Amino acid sequence: MKLNQDVIDRVNRAVRPDRLMELAVDLIRIPSPTQHAAAVADRLAEVLAAEGFEVGRPEAAWPRSPAVVTRYESGVPGRTLQFNGHLDTVHLPFVPPRIEDGILYGSGASDMKAGVAAMCEALLAVRDSHVLEAGGILLTAHDLHEAPWGRGQQLAALIDEGYVGDAALLPEYLSNILPVVGRGMANVEVTLSREGTPVHEVLGGLGQPRVIAAGADLVTRLEALDRSLTGRTHPLAGRESVFVGKVAGGEIYNQSPTEFHLAGTCRWLPGTAVEKVRHRFLEAVDGTETPPGIQVDARFHYRRDAFELDLEDPLVGAFEDSCQAVMGRTLPHGAKPFIDDGNTFGELAGIETITHGPRATGAHTTGEQVPVDDLIRVAKVYACAAVAFCAG
Ligand SMILES: [Zn+2]
Repeated sequence: MKLNQDVIDRVNRAVRPDRLMELAVDLIRIPSPTQHAAAVADRLAEVLAAEGFEVGRPEAAWPRSPAVVTRYESGVPGRTLQFNGHLDTVHLPFVPPRIEDGILYGSGASDMKAGVAAMCEALLAVRDSHVLEAGGILLTAHDLHEAPWGRGQQLAALIDEGYVGDAALLPEYLSNILPVVGRGMANVEVTLSREGTPVHEVLGGLGQPRVIAAGADLVTRLEALDRSLTGRTHPLAGRESVFVGKVAGGEIYNQSPTEFHLAGTCRWLPGTAVEKVRHRFLEAVDGTETPPGIQVDARFHYRRDAFELDLEDPLVGAFEDSCQAVMGRTLPHGAKPFIDDGNTFGELAGIETITHGPRATGAHTTGEQVPVDDLIRVAKVYACAAVAFCAG
């Protein structure tokens, strides 16, 4: 449905900045490092229930912090738009919420409690303004998003249990582009080890299998693999890669160590199968020159698959209409710089997702900050997108 001025006016009037900010501050006030989102989920459920919503608390593979699920139905058959967010934060020292000069600060403000508050405000505004002519909104919020403490298992379980709309919006901290493509990602780790204990170079160390030399060869091979991938590029998402971010081995200069560790990432584009990425990484590791006595332990920790938005999906038109209505412009197409729940929805639910949230900064630091006026904008974009998408 095309958005008309009447709908836009009603949404503008129904979005309540005070209610939005109260919830945002409420959610930030409750610490929720990944795996420990129970208390904040309880609070969100309480607020939605107090607003008159029927709230479900599916355990979704994580009984310690059941997810939060609610729906708003227009009563007329139509599409369901899902608003989805995570309630957990990365494990950093807690910063309490505060609002100063129109900026909201605090743990999880950017990633992504303020975004969650904005999507909830959109739900309330749609309900209060009766603008939804058909279909409904499904709202889901969960734990276990942030790696390495979580691996997206609770969202995967929610999807498996059928808590899925016809498309989804995710209010993560990305506001200036419409993300149409994103690379998949895996963490890789290799340990090269020898038997025995560390020993002085001149007391037998010289004759030990050289884990550091083998490690150097491993790094060289992974660099060569990375160079071989430079041709696999996407105009927006960049190229496929193998990246070594950390190596460690040895304790002091004249001691033969027993272990060498390496950690990094593999990233790939839509159209490349995860199995292929895993295979070429393990093949490079297998080719490493390891003298007898050195064991190799290689791990490929798959995180999320690559992401590509189907531009023909009705979600795209609805989102762009909404941006036009609320912001007076649409967003240029770009690449999603991170992996997020959208990659999971695409892979496990087969639905289209758009990551769009406030103009927030400082994610994964203790300096998270979000402009309040931009949260209000996000709530309006979500409400209008629901009207445009759900009525079809
Ligand atoms: Zn996030």
